[in-house]
Amino acid sequence: LARMSHEIRTPINAIFGMNEMILRESKEPAIRKYASDAKDASEILLSIINEILDSSKIESGMMELVPVNYKLGSLLNDIYNMMNVRAKEKKLDLIFDINPEIPKEYFGDDKCIRQILINLLNNAVKYTHKGQVILKITCDMDGDTANLHCMVKDTGIGIKPEDIGKIYDEFKRIDTGRNRNVEGTGLGMNIVQQFLKLMGSELRIESEYEKGSEFSFDIKQKVVNKEPLGD
Ligand code: ADP
Repeated sequence: LARMSHEIRTPINAIFGMNEMILRESKEPAIRKYASDAKDASEILLSIINEILDSSKIESGMMELVPVNYKLGSLLNDIYNMMNVRAKEKKLDLIFDINPEIPKEYFGDDKCIRQILINLLNNAVKYTHKGQVILKITCDMDGDTANLHCMVKDTGIGIKPEDIGKIYDEFKRIDTGRNRNVEGTGLGMNIVQQFLKLMGSELRIESEYEKGSEFSFDIKQKVVNKEPLGD
């Protein structure tokens, strides 16, 4: 399955692209509605497939970090735009509280960090019905290495203390009675934990049932450009 990743994603991306052309070119309300529904469904399909592929890649030991130079600002901007659509639909405030003094450019696996933040923020939005979702990032420096402290906090449904240990289990969803209308595969948190392990880190969870949850982790990244990130 892990070896077929490219073969599976390519036709889905083609469907996405062709559907996008219909949305751009058609003025017919009915056609646009069909295409918009097809877009929503293909986004869900792609995220489920991505989770299954990531998970199988991790399991088969084929997942490895690919470090590159990346700009934190553009990574966070992409994630904000993606998440804010969902947060707005649910009337939640999405707040990115990023210390503007932290360095702007790093050397590391940006795709891995992106996936971790997306999975955590996605869950925070999914399991919060009112209030806010916050991403907070600060850092301290050790020579040329930044220790980035990341935290995703929500005012959502929370997790019972006895369930916290189960959330990393693959395909395991908790509180299923209450969450029966929330889509998911039960793979997201397992992927977060495995990715953090690859990066020599781990997830900390604090949660109060019916009040909200806080997920945090620290990652060390080599700094390429020490100039401050800014707003
Ligand atoms: P799912 O696809 O079910 O969201 P995950 O592996 O991402 O699977 O999460 C596992 C379970 O942990 C979820 O089914 C949910 O019950 C619980 N969970 C994860 N994040 C949160 C959160 N921010 N607030 C409350 N519950 C959460």
